[in-house]
Amino acid sequence: MNILVLNCGSSSLKYQIINMDTKDVICKGLVERIGIEGSKLTHKVPGKDNYVIEEAMPTHKRAVELVMAAITDADHGVISSVDEIDAIGHRVLHGGQKFTKSIVVNEDVKAAIRECFDLGPLHNPANLMGIEACELAMPGKPNVAVFDTSFGMGMEPKAFRYAIPLEYLNKYSVRRYGFHGTSHDYVSHRAIEIAGLDPKTAKVLVCHLGNGASISASIGGVCVDTSMGLTPLEGLIMGTRSGDVDPAIIQYICNKEGKTVNEVLDILNKKSGVYGMTNGISSDFRDIEIAAENGNKDAEIALEAFRYRVAKYCGAYIAAMNGVDCICFTAGVGENDKVTRKIVCEQYLGYLGVKIDDERNNVRGQEKLISADDSTVKVYLLPTNEELKIAMDTEELVKG
Ligand code: ADP
Repeated sequence: MNILVLNCGSSSLKYQIINMDTKDVICKGLVERIGIEGSKLTHKVPGKDNYVIEEAMPTHKRAVELVMAAITDADHGVISSVDEIDAIGHRVLHGGQKFTKSIVVNEDVKAAIRECFDLGPLHNPANLMGIEACELAMPGKPNVAVFDTSFGMGMEPKAFRYAIPLEYLNKYSVRRYGFHGTSHDYVSHRAIEIAGLDPKTAKVLVCHLGNGASISASIGGVCVDTSMGLTPLEGLIMGTRSGDVDPAIIQYICNKEGKTVNEVLDILNKKSGVYGMTNGISSDFRDIEIAAENGNKDAEIALEAFRYRVAKYCGAYIAAMNGVDCICFTAGVGENDKVTRKIVCEQYLGYLGVKIDDERNNVRGQEKLISADDSTVKVYLLPTNEELKIAMDTEELVKG
């Protein structure tokens, strides 16, 4: 079975075709600048040169048509006709309180995605455009929506409720949702598999540390808590997002600087995190590491604060689960930065008997046990694969 996986942003579209029999990615690509002058599609087939289409793509519909043209192209394509695609899996950011798992798209599902535009204003409209473009380009093919918020729907009220007036939950669905759900779901289940844990009782922490970063705790694959909230702004220190702050800071800065709430929120989302803490050195953790190595004090503090925050969440979530069997690191920083893994596990969680094996930890981007044999908790580096998870959910639903 071939699944087309689509991740639509407001002006971009990422795609992969995954052969579910072999789990191979047979091609992938990126469309940039949809609706903006200079639209470009880059199509990649393993072992071949990239194929680039540069022509106007005013809408997601046109972008999807050109993706269809690229994947069926006589020279650069990987299938001879669109008939060879069995279904399309779409990443959808926000499912609100309605969707606790992935679902085959119908008119009701589309209406519900539309109802969540306020909760995911940048992503949900683009996600829906991607779905509608596929319905037009490939009539009759099943489309499946895979929500980034589904995993977090496993949380109990004590974890998802904010201590604010109840009416805001009832009227506007204000609660913790959590994001990166596809990644947390995939990595936590993979951990249970490779660590040989009991799928019903395993207590797993997943540290998804990338430009956007979040942590989840799950028992038996069900989310107990996760660090992002109503929006992806809450929780860890990220590339440009502040993570947790005292909400009163917003009012204080508004008053001091004559800014609006929206302007300050924009600063917390786009100009904060390690970028803001270093006065704009970079949002990329590699640059922050280099600056710290070169003696920049703010870069050093930003890195320390990032690791400290990760460890604080781990500690809190170990209490939430009353234990932990396995800690996993994933995403750009988690998969590449051995120092962060070592510091989080030993400098802060060492009291639990967590021990890293330095030789095992000297690894990037591959599935590997990195804890020492006498560690009380197994620690893994587990590369995330959100596209594969989307394809797996799609296959399962389409097969029935
Ligand atoms: P996102 O999907 O949220 O954009 P990624 O998971 O791709 O993020 O992670 C990107 C981040 O990973 C970047 O900040 C990058 O600097 C960081 N990263 C990549 N390699 C390393 C490394 N060797 N050491 C530290 N950070 C790294």
